[in-house]
Amino acid sequence: MPVAAVATGYGGRLTVDLAALKRNWQALDKVSTGALTGAVVKADAYGTGIVQASRALYQAGARFFFGATPDEAVAVRAALPEDAHIFVLDGLFPGAAPLYVGERLMPVLSSLPMLEEWLQACIARNEALPAALHFDTGMNRLGFRLNEASIVRRMIDQLGYAPQMIMSHLACADQPNHEKNRTQLALFTSVMAQFPGVPASLANSAGLMTGRENHFQMVRPGIALYGGRAVTGRRNPMSPVVTLEAPILQVKDAKTGESVGYGATQTLARDSRLAIVALGYADGFFRSLSSSNQRGGGRVVVRDKYAPVTGRVSMDTIIVDITELEEVPVPGEMVEILGANISVDDQADVANTIGYEVLTSLKGRYSRHYVDSGTTT
Ligand SMILES: *Cc1c(COP(=O)(O)O)cnc(C)c1O
Repeated sequence: MPVAAVATGYGGRLTVDLAALKRNWQALDKVSTGALTGAVVKADAYGTGIVQASRALYQAGARFFFGATPDEAVAVRAALPEDAHIFVLDGLFPGAAPLYVGERLMPVLSSLPMLEEWLQACIARNEALPAALHFDTGMNRLGFRLNEASIVRRMIDQLGYAPQMIMSHLACADQPNHEKNRTQLALFTSVMAQFPGVPASLANSAGLMTGRENHFQMVRPGIALYGGRAVTGRRNPMSPVVTLEAPILQVKDAKTGESVGYGATQTLARDSRLAIVALGYADGFFRSLSSSNQRGGGRVVVRDKYAPVTGRVSMDTIIVDITELEEVPVPGEMVEILGANISVDDQADVANTIGYEVLTSLKGRYSRHYVDSGTTT
């Protein structure tokens, strides 16, 4: 483990609001009435902590979990009661069938070799081990090609094997008016016709939030659970889950014309007061949030006021301009990096990325805290 395992409590502080996470799952579950609402917990539950997040989502009512890798799925299995159903989105890794069987994991099978290997495992154990089938309806990422559906059908029919679920994934669900959504929906419906009676799943968060026609028997939200914006250009209705704070190390006054940070990319246009904050790109505060004379960068909140990043983001520190603050903050005082005033998407927009990347980059050197209805651990 990295040094963060011995968190002394002096560095940055990441707080995950499990009550908000549960509220978000329940809100999405209301929208998807008629379909089961799963929970995607890949990438350490979008940076929030896979064990704590999975337990909270289970408490909220989730019983179907999606990890990307076998390691993630094993972590969920260990964290949850027996009646949790766990899918591995990456599918079946060669040779991994015994692990999946032992841990009761369901691969999302996406290629003929994967299907072949899984059916061999079924034959060897004389058991219809549950799995999902993933069809590629236009993303050219994981999934069987549509013209493989008849081969898939034949392979499973030979054994009398019934898949647990068939699924596909939308490429443009975040843009509800994109015509690709309609094309993929139509193609998925044609695949469903070849697997009558098998439950179907198409929607991620955005697909769930933009159309009932995408719901089918199971929806697979990820980003919206964690408070991120799923649909572009709409107000985000989800509760923020993550708060990130970092302490001020030093406050200093600097003069007009002096430069700030590596590369001397920013020159002060006025006499300024600067705060040096203990967090940098090694903690997921992207270097693309740097500021220069040509271009503004990210911002943080000091004593309820926005303070812009000045100069380049360093590995361990950022420099923020607090000239506008009436009082002088003291070393050790916490600065809001993400939270009530700065959403993950606000920060992502400035960094020219997406909220998903902000969240999944939250694996820095801060201590982690979990709050649930007012209690902290
Ligand atoms: C990541 C993922 C999801 C969840 O997507 P969000 O946009 O985070 O809701 C659903 N399905 C698949 C196949 C995924 O890879």
